[in-house]
Amino acid sequence: MANKMVYYFGKTKTEGKGKPKALLGGKGLNLAEMTSIGLPVPPGFTITTEVCDQYYKAGKQLPAGLMDEVGKAIKKLEKELDKKFGDDSNPLLVSVRSGAAVSMPGMMNTILNLGLNDISTEGLAKATKNERFAYDAYRRLINMFGDVVMGMDHHQFEVAFDKIKKKYNVSDDTEVPAEGLKELCEAYKEVYKQHTGEMFPQDPVAQLELSIEAVFGSWNTDRAVKYREIEGIRHLLGTAVNVQSMVYGNMGEDSGTGVAFTRNPNTGENKFYGEFLINAQGEDVVAGIRTPQPVAEMPKWNRAIHKELLEVKKTLENHYAEMQDIEFTIERGTLYMLQTRTGKRTGIAAVKIACDLVKEGLIDQKEAVMRVDPNALTQLLLPSFKTTARNAAEVLCKGINASPGAAVGKPAFTAEEARERKDAGENIILVRRETSPEDVDGMSAAVGILTSTGGATSHAAVVARGWGKCCVAGASDVEIDEKKKRMKVHGQTLGVNDVISLDGTTGEVMLGAVETQEPKLSGDFAKLMKWADEYRTLAVRTNADSPADSKRARDFGAEGIGLCRTEHMFFEPDRIIHMRSMILAEEEKERRQALSKLLPFQRKDFEGIFKAMAGLPVTIRLLDPPLHEFLPHESAAQKEMATELGVKASDIKKRIEALHEANPMLGHRGCRLSITYPEVLEMQVQAITEAAINCGKKKIKAHPEIMIPLVGTYKELALLRKKVEETIASTVAAKKFDGDLDISIGTMIEIPRACLTADEIAEHADFFSFGTNDLTQMAFGYSRDDIGGFLPDYLEQEILDVDPFQSLDQTGVGQLVELGVTKGRSTKKALKIGICGEHGGDPSSVEFCHRVGLNYVSCSPFRVPIARLAAAQAAITNS
Ligand code: PEP
Ligand code: MG
Repeated sequence: MANKMVYYFGKTKTEGKGKPKALLGGKGLNLAEMTSIGLPVPPGFTITTEVCDQYYKAGKQLPAGLMDEVGKAIKKLEKELDKKFGDDSNPLLVSVRSGAAVSMPGMMNTILNLGLNDISTEGLAKATKNERFAYDAYRRLINMFGDVVMGMDHHQFEVAFDKIKKKYNVSDDTEVPAEGLKELCEAYKEVYKQHTGEMFPQDPVAQLELSIEAVFGSWNTDRAVKYREIEGIRHLLGTAVNVQSMVYGNMGEDSGTGVAFTRNPNTGENKFYGEFLINAQGEDVVAGIRTPQPVAEMPKWNRAIHKELLEVKKTLENHYAEMQDIEFTIERGTLYMLQTRTGKRTGIAAVKIACDLVKEGLIDQKEAVMRVDPNALTQLLLPSFKTTARNAAEVLCKGINASPGAAVGKPAFTAEEARERKDAGENIILVRRETSPEDVDGMSAAVGILTSTGGATSHAAVVARGWGKCCVAGASDVEIDEKKKRMKVHGQTLGVNDVISLDGTTGEVMLGAVETQEPKLSGDFAKLMKWADEYRTLAVRTNADSPADSKRARDFGAEGIGLCRTEHMFFEPDRIIHMRSMILAEEEKERRQALSKLLPFQRKDFEGIFKAMAGLPVTIRLLDPPLHEFLPHESAAQKEMATELGVKASDIKKRIEALHEANPMLGHRGCRLSITYPEVLEMQVQAITEAAINCGKKKIKAHPEIMIPLVGTYKELALLRKKVEETIASTVAAKKFDGDLDISIGTMIEIPRACLTADEIAEHADFFSFGTNDLTQMAFGYSRDDIGGFLPDYLEQEILDVDPFQSLDQTGVGQLVELGVTKGRSTKKALKIGICGEHGGDPSSVEFCHRVGLNYVSCSPFRVPIARLAAAQAAITNS
């Protein structure tokens, strides 16, 4: 037998309750649910999404038998309401609306007032004792039917309407008298006939059949298809069609319509929140022509209805155990519910509502953990723009949303200038083509960073994210003139005295000072985090390279450091000089001299970090970037350096030229540096070991994990591991230390070959940490510093769904990770494995890490709570 095609909802019978959303669509299912829990829903019926599928499969033909089932449902409806289709005294009128399983706002067709014809309009006039109202409804139907079902141009109707208004000498639609609307209906029918070659259908069932086809047809319009693509909506059969008896909010001063949330969607406060309009139709609220009143004002108009709505709120929330977004209409003092669905909310509201629903006994803690989108937590951790202010702001351009937050300041075009002006009390946005380690002081001085090139793992992005600082990267519409200290965006020129606002969450650059708000870390947030920790099995560490960042990350719940990038420790003015003289040195002896001056700084930093992480593991990566990154590239700075070091500027220039590489990311960096200059490794390992010894003496537990970067063959690791072990031993001996040291030695897996040969590499590693930034770079062959040049096109043309440097490419790069895990553990069953690329703080990547059996993820301090929640959700979903 063929599947049931039509599901009735009403007092007599509700057939759709508990049926799959995929079959009835979101709207259809909720109408059935609301009816079944006794809410006042105008009765009607839903035609399933399967019918839509059959319609397309049959080459746009409604399936046989459908209109028979529809006819039976209409009969039931007529009986329940004691009204008749096309009746001359009390006609049945219906709306016909689309409704897929996933909401597609405004994408598909709607027809209202269906069932009106020349006779039933007279009937409606009689039944409502309001001729004007009846003909107004009729002209709206002819218009809508012409537009939506027959694809006519709206303009053709407007011309006819203008003629009538002229005739009656009025300017507003609402001023046209009943007589005029009657004439208008005649005129509209004429327009309809002219443009379609047919009469406007007088048979309500014929109207209905055509409307059903039109709704199915709207499923595959270009804009609906595009919308599904953009939103990633796949695997749906089609749309359902909801046919529902009409109620009217525009029948006089005792009627009205409104939309509301059962709780405040901005704050989460448990208070009915919304607005309504008296004597109006649903579209009037949405269209914003008249200003609605807040529902709190409703008792002044109709106390009973307000009370009833509060009861509805309770009933809905008890049923759905979730905040709802509702639409309602009041027809002559009677309340009707037209729609309910899960309400969208801010991150702050999401956390409060989840916690409150647990308190109210509606959901349990596990469900609360699942209810909050981890990314939405960002709002609780960073300042943000006030919604009203940002909606009103002028957007200059858009870049990559590299690090969230809100920043307002004046542009500075060099790091030095940023520092100077910040010290003079200005709020500065550092604007650069791209940033390099040389710029960190200026970056630290700035409230936000804007670059015109680079992507989500560019230097600017990674550093900013680590600090929780707002950054928009790769805004390619920004032309920077560093010399003249100005920038040009789409023809507008901005200088050092202009104010701009950066939204790191959306990537937008706005003109002027957009008002911001500070985050509030509520008790509910801490509570939700505690629940999350009870479910997750993945540990969450942080990427941090200073005691201050380590402390902040611990406050956010980090369970160790997964990546301490030691190169960041070399850039302060009193250190960089030694680093530079080390790089300039021609002989090992000179290099060692310079390194010995860096050693005390490193040791002190490590001691500070061990102390801040009190007994938790700290993964320290040995020097990774190519050496040229530590040298100044501008001639003025080179001269300054020459004076400082007492060498010739030309020698510096020569050395820089010698260090130049065509492709430094694939050049002399990572473990390759330690192969060439083992003394750098020795200094760093000595500093780590001494710091651990000093901590031990102070009864502070230190757990350093020494990590060797960019390994591609086990021979690199074997050789360097031996050097690390020898250095630890010689340091212990020199210090005559006889206590316990707990230092492990492992490697980053960030080169595809390392994944392919992970079994060999694991022989020499105590742990693995996936460096998915470099792994993504090398697997795709996309330079992480240059992706900003083509990523926007790739996203727009849908070659990529997301930036692979932000969310792990599970299909491709993911295979390499999985292979690395399997092969690594084939050698060492209990090998500890983590991830420290930027993906460690991305919820869907965290879920992937959980599934492939990693032990921990590591991310920037501000993403730690997001990773904790994502890890909990991954554990719950996969259990
Ligand atoms: C990586 O490559 O994923 C990584 C964490 O290292 P970096 O970003 O410092 O190259
Ligand atoms: Mg790397």
